[in-house]
Amino acid sequence: QRVGWAIVGLGHLSLEELVPGFAQCKRSRLVALVSGDRAKAQTVARQYGVSEKAIYDYKSFDQLRDNPEVQVVYIVLPNSMHAEYTVRAAQAGKHVFCEKPMANSVAECQQMIDACAKANRKLAVAYRLQYEPHHRALIEMARKKELGTLKFFGADNGQNQGDPNHWRLKKALSGGGALPDVGIYCLNAARYLSGEEPVEVQATLYSTPGDARFKEVDESVAFHLRFPSGMLASCTTSYGLHRSQRMRLMGSEAWAEMNPAFAYEGQRLMIGRKSQANPKAEDIIERRFSGGSQFAREMDHFSQCVQENLVPHTPGEEGMADMRIIDAIYRAAREGRPQKLEAAKRLDAFR
Ligand code: NAD
Repeated sequence: QRVGWAIVGLGHLSLEELVPGFAQCKRSRLVALVSGDRAKAQTVARQYGVSEKAIYDYKSFDQLRDNPEVQVVYIVLPNSMHAEYTVRAAQAGKHVFCEKPMANSVAECQQMIDACAKANRKLAVAYRLQYEPHHRALIEMARKKELGTLKFFGADNGQNQGDPNHWRLKKALSGGGALPDVGIYCLNAARYLSGEEPVEVQATLYSTPGDARFKEVDESVAFHLRFPSGMLASCTTSYGLHRSQRMRLMGSEAWAEMNPAFAYEGQRLMIGRKSQANPKAEDIIERRFSGGSQFAREMDHFSQCVQENLVPHTPGEEGMADMRIIDAIYRAAREGRPQKLEAAKRLDAFR
C-alpha cells in the first residue's frame, strides 16, 4: 500500500513538478489537495484522480486530521507559511515534508521540529539534490577520499527574478532574496560534500540601487565558509543574472565539476585527475547516472521512512542547520566582518 500524500499550495512547483512527479513514484500517491483556489484544485483533482472530498482550503486544513488516507502533508507554500502549516499538520497527526528554505528563522525551525517530535511525526526538508544520483555519487567519492583531501568548493546558483510583486521579493513572505531561495543550494552542497559544518563565514551583499525588485530583499550575495578540516567554500547567488548553476569541488588529487549542478534535471559530472600514462596531462572523465524525477525520489524516500519507521535523510535539523548559517551570512554582510559559528557535528546519515 502506497503512502498517501496531501499537497499544500498549488503554485508552480506543485503543478509543474510535484503533482506530475507522483507518476514516477513507487511508494507514494497523491490523495489530497490544499488550495485557496477551489476551481483550480478541482481541475487538478479531476486530472490526477483525487477525490473531490479530499480538497481542502487553508481554513479547513485542520480537517485533514479526519482523513486517514493522508499520511504525509507536503508544504509547498511561501517560506513564511512553512512553520505554521508544519505545526498544524503535525497537530493533525500527519508526517510533514516541507519545502526549502525550511522557514524564515532558526526559532521557527525549532518550533517545527518540536511540534513534530511532540506529535511523534516525522519531519523532512525537501533538499531534492541530496537524493539526486550525481550528487550522491560525488558525496560518496568525497567520503572515500577519491579526490584526496578537500581544499576548495566553489558554487554559483542564480537566476533572474522578474516580477517585483512576487512573494519571493517581499521580505515578510520570503525571509530574504536570492540567498535563502537559491543560494541555499550552494550552502547545502558545501555542507554535504565536506561532511562538515562551517566554523566561520564572511559575506558581501549588493542590491542595485533603484531596481524595484530589490527594495526589500537582497539581489546578490557572495559568501565564504571555512570548515574545520580547512576546506574553504566560496559561493555566489543572485536574482539579477541569467541562470548560472555550477559547482566545483577541488581536492589534493582530483577535481569534480558539475554543470548544471542545481537544476531539476540534466546534471553533468566531470572528474579530472593527473594522467597515469602522462604525468604532464590530465585525464578527464564524465560520470553519468540515469536520474528520473528528483521529486519522485525524495518523496519515495520519505514514504519509505514512514513505512519502515526510518529517520529521513534530510530531517528538520538539516533545514535548521542551513538557517543558522544563513543568519550568520546576513550578519557578516551587515557588520562587514567574519562571523564565528559554534562548532557543530554534521548529521551525516547517508541513506
Ligand atoms: P508559487 O508562487 O508558484 O506558489 C506558491 C503557492 O502558495 C501559490 O499557489 C499561492 O496561491 C499559494 N499561497 C498561499 N498563500 C499565499 C500568500 N499569502 N502569498 C502568496 N502565495 C500564497 O511558488 P513556488 O515556486 O511553487 O514555491 C513554493 C515553495 O516551494 C517555496 O518555499 C519555494 O522555496 C519552494 N520551491 C522549491 C523548489 C525546489 O527545487 N525544491 C523549487 C521551487 C520552489
